[in-house]
Amino acid sequence: MAYLHQIKKYDMENSWRGASVSLWFNQCPHHCPGCWNEETWERNETLYQDNDQVIQEVKDGLGEGVFQLNTLALLGGDPLSPKNIQDTIYIVKALKEWRPDLNVICWTGFTWEQVSRSKLLKPILEYLDVLVDGRFMIDRKIEGKKYGSDNQRAIDVQNTLSEGKIKIMEDF
Ligand code: SF4
Repeated sequence: MAYLHQIKKYDMENSWRGASVSLWFNQCPHHCPGCWNEETWERNETLYQDNDQVIQEVKDGLGEGVFQLNTLALLGGDPLSPKNIQDTIYIVKALKEWRPDLNVICWTGFTWEQVSRSKLLKPILEYLDVLVDGRFMIDRKIEGKKYGSDNQRAIDVQNTLSEGKIKIMEDF
């Protein structure tokens, strides 16, 4: 029961080291002033999609062989909103089981600390490679990064989990 604004099957903008397949989730609880995507904030019931159908569309977009893409991007809205998290986990878990080498990048308004301390949200970390965390703060706006303000961080999830210390990806 995912609610998605868009599935983009070849996305050079929201990726890293090559194109991604990108999913824009509907609904966000953060309501940051200056948000780039306000139309995603409220739940839109017309955007319902079956999770297994979404998984198949992502597989089709990633492709196979020499033209295969290696990255899945999760954006919004907020893919980790409590209203979205179960669907996000279902979709990403299935895709990681299908392709363990898949690179998964997720943008969320929650901080690493909030995600890693939440029983509801923490299970997603097992399936993520990069977490871009924190709300957009218009008075700390920056250019040249794949996030909008300098309070946000691109976190190397698996190294952070294994070392017990936040590992930032400076070149993201
Ligand atoms: S977390 Fe992102 S989508 Fe949600 S309000 Fe903030 S900038 Fe907008």
